Amino acid sequence: MLVISTLFIIFAPLLNIIRMNVLKGTIVLFGKYYFINEFYVLWLFLLFVLFAFIFVSIVFGRVYCGFICPQTILSQIFEGLFEYIKKRMTAVSKPVIYAAVLIFMAGLSLFIGFNLIAYFIPPALIIRHAFLELNYLTPYLWIVAGAVTALIIFDMVLLRHKYCIYACPYGFIQFLFNDTRTLRIEYKPVDNALCKDCSNCTNACFMKIDPRKKALQIQCVNCGYCIDACRERFDSKNEEGENICYSFGLEEDKKNQTKNRPFFYKVSIALFLLIGSFVIFIAKFSSYHYLNQSIFNVNQAFIPSNKIIANKYKLIVENASDKTRRLTLKAVNPDLKLNFFSGRLVNIKPHESITAYPVLYINNGRNVEKKLKIGPYPVEFQILNSRGKVVSIKKTVFFITKK
Ligand code: SF4
Ligand code: SF4
Repeated sequence: MLVISTLFIIFAPLLNIIRMNVLKGTIVLFGKYYFINEFYVLWLFLLFVLFAFIFVSIVFGRVYCGFICPQTILSQIFEGLFEYIKKRMTAVSKPVIYAAVLIFMAGLSLFIGFNLIAYFIPPALIIRHAFLELNYLTPYLWIVAGAVTALIIFDMVLLRHKYCIYACPYGFIQFLFNDTRTLRIEYKPVDNALCKDCSNCTNACFMKIDPRKKALQIQCVNCGYCIDACRERFDSKNEEGENICYSFGLEEDKKNQTKNRPFFYKVSIALFLLIGSFVIFIAKFSSYHYLNQSIFNVNQAFIPSNKIIANKYKLIVENASDKTRRLTLKAVNPDLKLNFFSGRLVNIKPHESITAYPVLYINNGRNVEKKLKIGPYPVEFQILNSRGKVVSIKKTVFFITKK
């Protein structure tokens, strides 16, 4: 699980699963591009992740730390390496091996630093401006990657699992959702296989706790290493037994109806929010369209000499697809013959947005004031693709004023 989750975190921005482009104000979510005014789709997704986090914490405790967190896998790797060097290496080879581990750590940390930036700036741009074509972005990229590298080296050399035990706020927040029926480790000898005090379980625990204690321990991440260690101890002696197991609450808690009720309420509410947020997110995600149009009325003008009434608009069109789009604008009102002064055709490159100022006018001859009432007339702005198909519609108004 830790390897899969770490690979996912590394590849998520590279495979366009989730990333932002802060330079352009766009996000990519599961391969689809969104512009800044559609960021709510990202917030809906994050809301779903938040409710998933709450639900999982209520039911399974601190499993995020034990099964998903990259800090856990990095700590395991370097804890294992340092242990190995301490125990197996001779005094002569130790400094060389330590130096090699530090170089490996620095390289890995730098990669993680750039990988983190890839959540905010497209990976291709990072490679280009950090290594190939230096420009104004280069120092920022190296400063952020360097700061992350320094933090990871500090963390891995001095803290590792100590950070999870004493400092991680995320771990403690998960614990806040803990309940008497939340999944936990229980010391419960099966088949009277009494504890042999071999300390295998406590040695296996990287959070440095004794799983045999009855009291709930905030540091436990439900990794299950102690369960395996105890089972292996009995297996190695060809004995039947197992002293530690997973349990949704202690035996006495399971029977206590009053203690169980709040747990089921919490689980039901969290599940309702989780499913609700998922349905809303999927509904918005599936109604995605590559073209996004916004139109604003800028100003109006009445030009008596030419018998012309003109309205100027501001049009923003965003192209989230991978192709350049040649689009035509059409303005429709059943009572007015609307013409374009300018801004009828727009060309937009992939993942770009354009701002245009189309001007519409009516020329109603000499009787302009008699024929038309003063006021706003509804106008539908249609965008047609190169095959003449309407791909986007937005409504606004055409003003006819006295002056
Ligand atoms: S007590 Fe067991 S499950 Fe809990 S953190 Fe330690 S080894 Fe993992
Ligand atoms: S591994 Fe099992 S037998 Fe050994 S100390 Fe832990 S609980 Fe007891």
